[in-house]
Amino acid sequence: VAMQRIKIFGIILRIYRVLTPPQRKKALLNAALILGNAFLEVFSLAAVLPFVALVLDSSVIRANPYLNRAFLFFGFGSENQFMIAAVLLLLLLFILKNGIGVFIHYYQSRFAYDVSTELSGQAFGEYYAREYARITDTNSSLPTRDIIFIPTEFSIYVLLAAITLLSECFIFLLICAGIAFYDPRVFLLLTVVLSPALFLLYRLKKGKLERIGKQSEELKPLSIKYLFQGIYAYIDAKLYAKERYFQQRFSSLQRELNRSFALFNTLNAIPARLLETIALLGMVAIVLYGLAVSDNRQEIILLLGVFGAATYRVMPSINRILIALVNVKTFKYTLDILEESRRTSSHASPENLHPAAALRLEKFIALHNVSFSYSDNPSFRLNKVNFMLKKGETVGLIGKSGSGKTTIINIMLRFLKEQSGEILLDGRPLKPGDTAAWRSLIGYVKQAPFILDGSIKENVAFGEAPGGIDAERLALALEQAGLDDWVAGLPRGVETQIGEQGTKLSGGQRQRIAIARALYRRSEILIFDEATSELDRETEREIVSAIESLSGQKKTIFIVAHRITTLKPCQRIYELKEGEIAGFYQYADLREREFEGGK
Ligand code: ADP
Repeated sequence: VAMQRIKIFGIILRIYRVLTPPQRKKALLNAALILGNAFLEVFSLAAVLPFVALVLDSSVIRANPYLNRAFLFFGFGSENQFMIAAVLLLLLLFILKNGIGVFIHYYQSRFAYDVSTELSGQAFGEYYAREYARITDTNSSLPTRDIIFIPTEFSIYVLLAAITLLSECFIFLLICAGIAFYDPRVFLLLTVVLSPALFLLYRLKKGKLERIGKQSEELKPLSIKYLFQGIYAYIDAKLYAKERYFQQRFSSLQRELNRSFALFNTLNAIPARLLETIALLGMVAIVLYGLAVSDNRQEIILLLGVFGAATYRVMPSINRILIALVNVKTFKYTLDILEESRRTSSHASPENLHPAAALRLEKFIALHNVSFSYSDNPSFRLNKVNFMLKKGETVGLIGKSGSGKTTIINIMLRFLKEQSGEILLDGRPLKPGDTAAWRSLIGYVKQAPFILDGSIKENVAFGEAPGGIDAERLALALEQAGLDDWVAGLPRGVETQIGEQGTKLSGGQRQRIAIARALYRRSEILIFDEATSELDRETEREIVSAIESLSGQKKTIFIVAHRITTLKPCQRIYELKEGEIAGFYQYADLREREFEGGK
């Protein structure tokens, strides 16, 4: 038991360390309220005892000098009147106590849920602070677990449970001290009856609980993964008639998880029942003791009253202590995960933390001797890549699949970091602190652009609150992207909902939305990523014409493609071959050559 106690103190200390300083302050305030509450609980319990004595023997009213003075002062007509007044006073005390109790309970719960909100926000922030390489490496359901489930589970089952544990331990100890002071015999009886039972109960559950916690930790992300996979697999699942497979894979995991929660719930209900049985055992013991040792009925009844009152308050307290212990034990893994993320978050990339000075493109950008290789892929290497984009130029990059085009784009977007060489802006190398400012210069039009489930307006003014969107800039961006006629023809105009991932749009329209997004942001450099394009000829023509119409906007445009016809608008085209620049050409020179092979 001593070992267990040390462990639980260790956990409480760890919980304290995971909290932020303001949260710690609130936690301490909570502890103070708990202490106050504990005194109130014990005091109100103690107030019952004189009342019981009063009912048993009303002559105390005259005999006790204080009671007698009160009796005379308020001018009671009879002892019964006095007792009614006493009952009302007791009632008032309990109403007050319980009112304050509700307030403290609300304060505790709100504190715990607020911590959950803050942890979710932090976890979301941490997700964005992670390096790109780590994002592509981790199972995508882990962020869901860390952002949605871990904060609530920690706050409710660990933090709130620890607060409950402390509060109930205070109450428990105070009541025990009170009982020991009032009647050592009852105290002894309680100790003898309770301690072995409690110990047994706690031992019994320990192993099971940790297993339930572990299961929850491991199965939840998997279950989220299976759910999302199943949802995204809609078309394929139906075509291959594999709906049942996806459904069952998810359901069987879910059953396993829920079964363990059923067990968890049952284990939580055992203490109350066991304690009730023990309480009865205590009563029987008192009666037996009364019969065997003394034949003073009055005394036995009083003893039963004291024991009853004590168990009335002590049993729920013990019950809550046990449940809190069970919860903390089961969900301790959330604490491990939070501590782990605290450890790693200090290594998070600082790029968006310090707002860098704005950058401007005056003359050119260039890649200078840029070399890069993936740590886990020795067979590919970008080798001293050099090329230049002058301001206002449209430049292309062509290469077979696997030649390194996407890698170059990710280096230009600063998602990957070159091992040697540099990116030059007007001759000045980009520094790590420039990343945010550099990215604000760039509009990135992906082959399958990310489309928000929302209106055209929200998608063009990406990430701006609807109230803050500049209508003029929006109209201009739509016009320059060649979407104005289409939007004008829609009954709801820019408010038209375009569906999750733009399901209500054609491929060309989606790309134009992405172009409009870059134009709304007034990006000077537009990067078109057609590196893995499987575009049909029609869509390709559409995009080429959209890009061509942009040339009048004095934008610097970089088109990455594996099909030469996409590069028609380019003034210069670099060829990438197995990670090296093999030369540069005019569109007319390359038109006859074949790039699509070797995929
Ligand atoms: P492209 O866009 O021209 O098709 P990529 O830049 O995507 O070419 O890929 C270049 C090479 O790098 C390929 O051989 C690919 O397998 C490899 N590669 C791409 N991404 C990674 C990664 N995250 N880790 C390891 N190797 C990668």
